[in-house]
Amino acid sequence: MTKKVYLENPYIRQIDGRIIQKKYIDDRYHMKINRTIFYPNLSDGQPGDKGTINGIDVLDVYEDGDDIIHVVDENISSKNVKLSIDWDNRLDYMQQHSGQHLLSAGFYKLFNGETIGFYIGEEHSHVDVNIPYMGEEYIDKIELFANKVIYSNFTIKSYTMNREDMDRLPVRNEMKSESNIRIVEIDGIDFSPCNGTHLRRTGEIGIIKIKDIQAHKDYIRVQFLCGYRALKDYGDIMKENKRLKDDR
Ligand SMILES: [Zn+2]
Repeated sequence: MTKKVYLENPYIRQIDGRIIQKKYIDDRYHMKINRTIFYPNLSDGQPGDKGTINGIDVLDVYEDGDDIIHVVDENISSKNVKLSIDWDNRLDYMQQHSGQHLLSAGFYKLFNGETIGFYIGEEHSHVDVNIPYMGEEYIDKIELFANKVIYSNFTIKSYTMNREDMDRLPVRNEMKSESNIRIVEIDGIDFSPCNGTHLRRTGEIGIIKIKDIQAHKDYIRVQFLCGYRALKDYGDIMKENKRLKDDR
């Protein structure tokens, strides 16, 4: 079983590990390592980490039962290896994922809207909420709620608990059936079952901005940006505005 160091401390960027199994499949080496900081691809809606093992690019990371498999296209002959993740990329995903929990908490608390799906991609992220329509004035309310929680800099923590204990907490989206469940908590505000990597404090999310809301049959799809992505988007809009002004 691979020790999932990213669950205990998602801020570790480099770690030593030992290859315990290696398979050669379709020109690539699939390596099981005794412990890892690499988050596996599309596990719980969050994309896998990028990075290197002994300086060689990791092409894919996936779960195989309780193990994590790392895919590279060069043979690594030593058993002991150095794993490094692309930190900027990980921080970006943590900002979007912690931000998603906060946004979902806002829809739940303010409008009783439950998150029925979410996606975090390289450029776009969204949550699907089971309410049929949402006007502009309500969007402002959600954004204000989420950003106030950010600037109050609450702690975000994770812990594993059994099902009976979980029944005593106001947990959102109780769809998981395992007996032991990992809960990500935003300081008494939100409790959500999740195996993703999260920031330590809400302040690190930076900002949450809703970009677009599309109404579907019986739910809304809410596109949002957090942290550095929102900063970049603001910069892009400023540049575009300047270009339009200069063209006049
Ligand atoms: Zn999550």
